Amino acid sequence: MEQEIIKLLDPDLECIRYKLKNQQVIFEVKSSREKVPCPYCGKVSSKIHSVYQREIQDIPIQDKQTIVLLNTRKMFCSNPACDHKTFSERFDFIAPRERKTKRLVDKILLTSAKVSSVSASALLKESSIKVCKSSICDLLKKNAIHCG
Ligand SMILES: [Zn+2]
Repeated sequence: MEQEIIKLLDPDLECIRYKLKNQQVIFEVKSSREKVPCPYCGKVSSKIHSVYQREIQDIPIQDKQTIVLLNTRKMFCSNPACDHKTFSERFDFIAPRERKTKRLVDKILLTSAKVSSVSASALLKESSIKVCKSSICDLLKKNAIHCG
């Protein structure tokens, strides 16, 4: 079941662990892609430098805050002409360095478009999405929307 849910986020993800803890649904996942393209030069690499974990909030499941622990690989770029010796694996469902999935960001923007960021934060909290007023403002600014 959890594999199917995770594959809806990205078909190349695999769920390693899944737990229901307090009021949170937590998935620990990893990518099953063998080769990863360098985002700077496009050349694929299968040489792993290290692995680190990103904690990402996703849209709630069963009204519970949902967290994805994404084991992210740092890879060596195999192109000697590339300016970057290493790079982090990227995923379509989340922007680099972001801590929320794109579909969660969309939901936050949709809610915040109608009400002030204080009200949006309160409304989202009721639907188990944790986002503070200042994060909402940052997201609105990033998307060139006026922060009220
Ligand atoms: Zn490269």
